Amino acid sequence: MSTHKIDLKSLNCQQLEEFLSRMGKEKYRAKQILHWIYQRHVLDFEEMTDLAKKFRCDLAEQAFISSFLPEMVETSEDGTRKYLFRLDDGQTIEAVRIPMDESRATLCISTQVGCAMGCQFCMTGTFGLARNLRTEEIVNQVCAALQDGPISNIVLMGMGEPLHNLDNVVTALQILYLDDGLGYGTRRVTLSTCGLVPEIRELSRRIKVNLAVSLNASTNEIRDRLMPVNQRYPLEELLPACRDYAQTTKQRVTFEYILIGDVNNSIADAKRLVALLHGVRCKVNLIAYNEHQGAPFNAPSEESIKAFQSYLLQRDIVATLRASKGQDISAACGQLKGKFAEQSLNCTFE
Ligand code: SF4
Repeated sequence: MSTHKIDLKSLNCQQLEEFLSRMGKEKYRAKQILHWIYQRHVLDFEEMTDLAKKFRCDLAEQAFISSFLPEMVETSEDGTRKYLFRLDDGQTIEAVRIPMDESRATLCISTQVGCAMGCQFCMTGTFGLARNLRTEEIVNQVCAALQDGPISNIVLMGMGEPLHNLDNVVTALQILYLDDGLGYGTRRVTLSTCGLVPEIRELSRRIKVNLAVSLNASTNEIRDRLMPVNQRYPLEELLPACRDYAQTTKQRVTFEYILIGDVNNSIADAKRLVALLHGVRCKVNLIAYNEHQGAPFNAPSEESIKAFQSYLLQRDIVATLRASKGQDISAACGQLKGKFAEQSLNCTFE
């Protein structure tokens, strides 16, 4: 693929209109093209039959439409599917489709190759950051998974810290929201962050999206240990940013809290958490830490999970327990890549 050509999947509506006007074309053509790309999944300009032949040839000379084909797909017994995509520079990323019920599925997508944030409970963190994903690489994960069936919700919760790649993520969201394209409403997309405070504030100024914050601790001491980002943006800065986000966007912020055995799962932790969340419109998503081979932490006991959740519920905090799906394949974010890297490594040495 020639590098001087523009990938139309990298452009939001306004950028596509500008591109077309440089070609001397009318603005409304953008909608026609977006319809072909995102609703009809057409990759070849030749098939865009409501555009004049000459226009199609001009487009083919100046632009192209990229797409992803998964290099590996793993399906779990509960129907969770993990897709591994190889990028044009040989790097790999993953997306996960999680069935919610008969007709609904959530897709979890990546925003970076690796991640610089180094959270201790996350395998992606151990790879470090290789690079940001480009807009089209974020969008193409959704397009590829849609070939496998409808997706009702999208979460930016896979590899990478979305707010560390803010510009490309915002453009990708604009593309996902396009009425003439994939048409995702802002309430159907959730962005999960480890807590980059200035970027949380910037996000609320730039686009609408549900915000999930990976909290995982009720004291700076514990959070510093689990998530190095806390040393830069401690709880006393993070919580006001979340409160303001909820106020500005009129949406509840979700706090993700991974319960880790003997680290953050005591009633004293729950009590501090309630105090911390006071005045923030929010809900809490509890996730039991998934112990795996070589894992640095222990899974929490069943009783501690129940007791923690009850404590929050009794104090009027909406607290759901998220079932960790796909346990029999690769559990947490980054694990499919880890497994694949291991396999490739084995191949090299065999
Ligand atoms: S949990 Fe998210 S932010 Fe933290 S290291 Fe993993 S991918 Fe990065």
